[in-house]
Amino acid sequence: MTEKLQSAFKKLTGKGKLSESDVKEAMRDVRMALLEADVNYAVVKEFVNKVTEKAIGQGVLESLTPGQQVIKIVNEQLIELMGSSQSKIKWASAPPTVIMMVGLQGSGKTTTSAKLAGYLAKQGKNPLLVACDIYRPAAVKQLQIVGQKVNIPVFSLEGANPVAISQQALEYAKKHSNDVVILDTAGRLHIDDEMMQELEDIKSSVHPDEILLVVDAMTGQDAVNVAKNFNERLAIDGVVLTKLDGDTRGGAALSVKAVTGKPIKFVGMGEKLDDLEPFHPDRIASRILGMGDVLTLIEKAQAAVDEKKAMELENKLRNQQFTLEDFLDQLHEIKKMGPLSQIMDMLPGINAKKMGKIQVDDKELGRIEAIINSMTKQERREPAIINGSRRRRIAKGSGTTIQEVNRLLKQFEETKRLMRQFTSMEKSGRRGMLKLPF
Ligand code: GDP
Repeated sequence: MTEKLQSAFKKLTGKGKLSESDVKEAMRDVRMALLEADVNYAVVKEFVNKVTEKAIGQGVLESLTPGQQVIKIVNEQLIELMGSSQSKIKWASAPPTVIMMVGLQGSGKTTTSAKLAGYLAKQGKNPLLVACDIYRPAAVKQLQIVGQKVNIPVFSLEGANPVAISQQALEYAKKHSNDVVILDTAGRLHIDDEMMQELEDIKSSVHPDEILLVVDAMTGQDAVNVAKNFNERLAIDGVVLTKLDGDTRGGAALSVKAVTGKPIKFVGMGEKLDDLEPFHPDRIASRILGMGDVLTLIEKAQAAVDEKKAMELENKLRNQQFTLEDFLDQLHEIKKMGPLSQIMDMLPGINAKKMGKIQVDDKELGRIEAIINSMTKQERREPAIINGSRRRRIAKGSGTTIQEVNRLLKQFEETKRLMRQFTSMEKSGRRGMLKLPF
């Protein structure tokens, strides 16, 4: 999906100006990418409509960077689709908090119960695991084994039914100051009435604070249908999406919230017992878009670079009027975005390599500023006149060395050359991924 989306976006950022039909064409590609990733059909339809509407309205197409604006809208919609912000566990006002884990057999329920217990213990909680699956003797044993691995006690009771086990586990927890009780209930291969009835009985007898449904991401839309069914019967509070490490498509992650109305709270990222992570919609969205932190950079650049100035700069470059004064201005603009090393890191591969030639750290920025400030106005505008004796004077005046002055002048020439390259790329219609002034 990431590759498909990126090629759709390349078409957008590859053009200086966008038309409505460019956006519509890109959205057709986005639609295909989502459908192929096994995202629910109705979800895809609504998603594409929303993005198109936002991209065509709001003056996006008239902006200086329409392609990037569209990517930003896609990113924002993806985040919204997955529930906007991280959804946390609801804690009981008086301990113990009861978390009831439900799900089909093989979804990863027992493993996830232990993972969650271990995760909460690391946060200072004192969890108790409860074996409610009385139908498979191996299930109790399995919970004991994983419980031991994460160093969490496991409550079990032979010969009792799941409701009685849950109730007694609660009593036990109160006595032993366990502030979280995690019920590992029985699953089935398929949804059946008997299982649902048992879960409803447990629910109405212990009133869990949180019902977490465990579903297997690799089953794609089946996982979403399972979630829909469980939610209709049990009114779950959230979903744990397991085996996301093996899910190359991401359809379930994108559809669960939209289809069930319930958020994904955690994701399983592997078989090891510490492979459980809170679900962050924004991080998953940028992972799906395959852009790492480029989106953050777009936002930072937008906040820092004023479009009018950027336009002026472009004109100067076109007319070969870029001076050391502009260079200094640019350095200031970049400084506003945060530490330079961080910005360099955020650039996508190809640009990072190009930019890497111009290594500027924050300390060096101060020196560059001093050097440029020691130049006369004429020198800043016409660096070509800076001969040997002028270089000596500038070095002395700025408290730097001639080598440093030489290096700066070389960097300036290199920047000018790179920027010319970027602008000619734009002219020929191959706009760079990011229009950074540097
Ligand atoms: P249950 O029947 O629902 O209790 O499922 P189990 O906890 O027994 O897990 C079934 C299988 O899925 C086991 O082999 C687990 O190791 C594996 N599993 C669980 N969660 C994950 C995960 O996040 N990633 C991967 N790769 N495997 C997982």
